[in-house]
Amino acid sequence: MAEQSAGLSPILKQATPVLAARGEGVHIYDEDDRRYLDFTAGIGVTSTGHCHPKVVEAAQRQVGTLIHGQYTTVMHRPLLQLTERLGSVLPEGLDRLFYVNSGSEAVEAALRLARQATGRQNAIVLQGSFHGRTMGAASLTTSGVKIRAGIGPLMPGVVVSPFPYAYRLGMSEEEATHHALTELDYQLATVSSPKDTAAIFVEPVLGEGGYVPAPPAFLRGLRERADKHGILVVADEVQTGFGRTGRFWGLDHSGIRPDIVITAKGLASGFPLSAIAASQELMERAWPGSQGGTYGGNAVACAAALATLDVIQEEGLVENAAQMGERLQKGLRQVADSHPVIGDVRGLGVMIGNEFTAPDGSPDTETATRAHRAAAERGLLLLTCGPHGNIVRMIPPLVVGAEHVDTAVELWAEAV
Ligand code: PLP
Repeated sequence: MAEQSAGLSPILKQATPVLAARGEGVHIYDEDDRRYLDFTAGIGVTSTGHCHPKVVEAAQRQVGTLIHGQYTTVMHRPLLQLTERLGSVLPEGLDRLFYVNSGSEAVEAALRLARQATGRQNAIVLQGSFHGRTMGAASLTTSGVKIRAGIGPLMPGVVVSPFPYAYRLGMSEEEATHHALTELDYQLATVSSPKDTAAIFVEPVLGEGGYVPAPPAFLRGLRERADKHGILVVADEVQTGFGRTGRFWGLDHSGIRPDIVITAKGLASGFPLSAIAASQELMERAWPGSQGGTYGGNAVACAAALATLDVIQEEGLVENAAQMGERLQKGLRQVADSHPVIGDVRGLGVMIGNEFTAPDGSPDTETATRAHRAAAERGLLLLTCGPHGNIVRMIPPLVVGAEHVDTAVELWAEAV
């Protein structure tokens, strides 16, 4: 465990008290060699587990060959190969890629592209959205006041429409979908007319806002409206992409095709790399020279991403995420059945939230925080999320096995 430092600290707030010394697979070891089951995966990043030998080998090889070239100056093989490989997993027709380093930067790039390509200003986001902390991305973020507090004025023209959060709305999924689509129609009729609206940004599973899967019928309704009005659909797959939800992309559950995909986190198993993908026709409408960045598409990160794709495919990690996610949800539901303070367990694949609710129906942040801490004390690392921090989320690496899932459920039951 990390001792409190009296002097300068590199962090503002630490979700767990662990001082990590090394990682291996689904485990983190602290400096006393205490082992923790890591169901945080660096906030959904280490998809292939900590230090997967193939990722380590690919990165080490690349470090000794070419670390950085900057692809607007000199092209390099890892970036060309990665682009080709991503082409085979991206939705059809989204075959032009642009690389940066983090989720937020990719969101900025998508926003810039959407505005330039349509000549329209506004963006519609869904209540509870999280798209990042840079100014444009923070303007699109509504999942908590902390992200936006004290940094305004933010970007104008961001319109918020409800997310079909059935549990919190006290509705069935069908009712919540109907409600959210009716409100979206209302926003388009009254606040953000289609001729001003460049894009709708959507997370296939609401992430920081509470781990709520978007119902497929809602996503299809959203796509229909976007098509009708020439509005772009931007899928923020930063957290849901690369197999996390048990399908390669979160939107695969609904079958809708986005106009722009944003990917980061699981893309390179922990190396900083993110990308946006769109059709050639759309990308060519961006103003030349308006997108760029010194470190984007770094050669070592691209080599790690290529190895990540190999591992995901060779080890069947997308299927594993689906199976282990089902097993985990089943176990968590049993825990919730005997602890009414957990009002809802939900998610897709290995992206699962446990929502803590007080008897009066209000968010129970205190109990969620205590359970989260008690889990860490027992060797299970978890995270909280949601605007009130009352949802304890589980996002293990996709290499998680049945034995890890069962141990996590046992530790969770004890912690709760
Ligand atoms: N978009 C989504 C859906 C995210 O979950 C996150 C981060 O959690 C971001 C964007 C921002 O990514 P980053 O923290 O890499 O800037």
